[in-house]
Formats: sequence, C-alpha cells, structure tokens
Amino acid sequence: VEEERKLKSQMPIYAGLEDYEILDKMGDGAFSNVYKAVEIKTGKRVAIKVVRKFELNASQAGDKHLNQQFKKKTRVTERANILKEVQIMRGTAHPSVVKLHSFSESDEHYFLVMELMEGGELFHQIVKLTYFSENLSRHVILQVAQGIRYLHEERGVVHRDIKPENLLFERIPIIPSKNPVHRPYDEAKEDEGEFVPGVGGGGIGRVKIADFGLSKIVWDEQTMTPCGTVGYTAPEIVKDERYSKSVDMWALGCVLYTLLCGFPPFYDESINVLTEKVARGYYTFLSPWWDDISHSAKDLISHLLCVDPTQRYTIDQFLAHPWCNAAPAPPPPPTPYIYDH
Ligand code: ATP
Repeated sequence: VEEERKLKSQMPIYAGLEDYEILDKMGDGAFSNVYKAVEIKTGKRVAIKVVRKFELNASQAGDKHLNQQFKKKTRVTERANILKEVQIMRGTAHPSVVKLHSFSESDEHYFLVMELMEGGELFHQIVKLTYFSENLSRHVILQVAQGIRYLHEERGVVHRDIKPENLLFERIPIIPSKNPVHRPYDEAKEDEGEFVPGVGGGGIGRVKIADFGLSKIVWDEQTMTPCGTVGYTAPEIVKDERYSKSVDMWALGCVLYTLLCGFPPFYDESINVLTEKVARGYYTFLSPWWDDISHSAKDLISHLLCVDPTQRYTIDQFLAHPWCNAAPAPPPPPTPYIYDH
C-alpha cells in the first residue's frame, strides 16, 4: 500500500483529466505517455494516452528569467494527425483491436482514453519466453490476423505500424491446467502457480492491435473508391494504394517469424546494411533455431516476406493457408502413476 501511494504521488496531474486517477506509467514516447488510470466515478480501469500539443523551444526551455507566457512554443503534434488516429479508432469495433473509450483535450494535451491491456506488449512476452511454440504462435498470430482482416476488409484501414510493441495482451487470470499450448516455456512456473501476464498459467490472453498513429484509410480495391466516400482521385494514387495493405502483411510475416524463433528476420547493426537486406528481402531460416520448425510455417512466412507486393499474400490468403488451419497437437497422455511397493 505504501509503495502504491508513493508511486501515485509521483504521477503527474493533468488539467482536463480530473475524472481520472493516474496509477502508473505504461508507455513512454517522444510526445506522448501512456498511463494506467482509474475512472474515479465508476472505478473502471483504463489506459490513457496523453499527447503533448506543444514543446518549448529548446533554447528557451531552461531559461528561468524568461516569463512563461513569452516562451515560444512549437506545435509538436498536428491536430489533423491526432484527429485521424481518433477517427480511425472510433470507427473500429473488433475483439482484436484496442477500443477507444473517449477522446478529449485541454490547452496543452490530447487525451485518448482506451481499453486497458494489462498483459503488456507481445514484445516483452517474446523476450520473457525466448520464443513461442508453433501452437502458441498460431494462437497469437491468428488473433492479430483477424484484427487485420477486419481493418483491411471491413474498414479499409491500413495500420502501417504492426510490430510486437504494438500488439498488447489482456491480463488473464491464473487457471491451473496443463495446457500443452504453452508448455515449452512455462511448465515449471505453471506448477509454482506463477503468473505470466498474457500467457498466464494454463491459458493465453487475447492479443489486440494498438497504436493507430500511423494508420490510414485506403482505397477499396474492388470499387476503386476511398472507403466510405466517392472521390476524384488520380489513377496513380489509386494504383499505389491498391498495394498499401500489403505493408501490414509484410509486418505480419516479420512478427510471425519473430514469434517462432525469438529474433527478427532482418537485423543488422548498420542501418544501411539493414535497409539493403530489407530492400532485397534477404533473410534466412537460420540453423539450428529453425531446424525443428515445420515446412508449412516456413512456406507461409516466405509468402509474406515477399519483396513484390503483388505476389505477397493478402490477409485472406494468409488465413486460408494450411498452417493457420492446423489443429493444435493433442495434449500428451497423462503419465501413469506407478506405486512403488
Ligand atoms: P510508438 O513510439 O510505439 O508509436 P506512441 O507514443 O505512438 O508510441 P503507443 O504505441 O500508442 O504510443 O503506446 C506506447 C506504449 O504504451 C505501447 O507500446 C504500450 O506499451 C503502451 N500502451 C499503449 N496503449 C495501451 C493500452 N491500451 N493498454 C496498455 N498499454 C498500452
């Protein structure tokens, strides 16, 4: 309790956010912070993304003699961008997409009150567990893919920033069981009843897509109209946008690759070399890490990490692939208990 009180007293108070009590900081960005908070009236726990509107000019920020009101401020978050993020999030309702409860603003900040995902980032789960089994990877990636299918096919939205940091787990209760899905990593801990957020004892939480900061509404491929409106857009734009959904499919391939082995398909310390590798689509199924992973999984990844966007799998092709439709392996038979007389 003392710890909690100390933590709370360190939390900032924002004008315009009086209906909420901030409990903890969960995310840290250049111009935004994400907090765990509770709505005072209802007791409902939420996540609040607080986005700064302005930044003091660097040269003046530390100048104590300059009167506050004369300090020049630079707008750091474009209103149009944040409104677009809000518009896209408001228009979506799917179990694999983080919900936006409300949006408000003060003179200094924008506030996005969202559904709280207590299990944290998929990225942290990969770090914690080293890598995921094929069954667990399938369980996770199918949820993400359903979210992408909804965004692409039903909303005409491209996310454009799919990565393990933007895929968040719900917190799930400990259900003691011997679920084979997560046994490769967690078996010992499961017996101790240790809670692993998102991948808790015996069950696996829902995964949802977050951060629509870079997302965009695109053109409908069949009708060649922007989703929801009829436009007068030039063919080169329509042509370009026809393949823009494929950026999410590439990213989905990168996430699936990373889930299965624990490291990303493209990596180099030099940004130039890394860019070159991505541009050429140069990746390998590195031995020994990939030796025991099924051909089917590799086949699926190779159709996603495909440089030509016209050849890359669409979300429907992804979901129809045999690897996505393979039933998880049955649980191992119980070990017979032998009495030793
Ligand atoms: P980025 O630099 O990743 O684009 P950002 O400033 O745009 O960051 P978000 O990506 O939306 O902000 O959030 C930053 C981090 O805050 C996430 O990676 C996640 O760890 C945490 N976070 C965001 N939304 C939620 C949520 N609804 N529930 C729990 N944690 C969240």
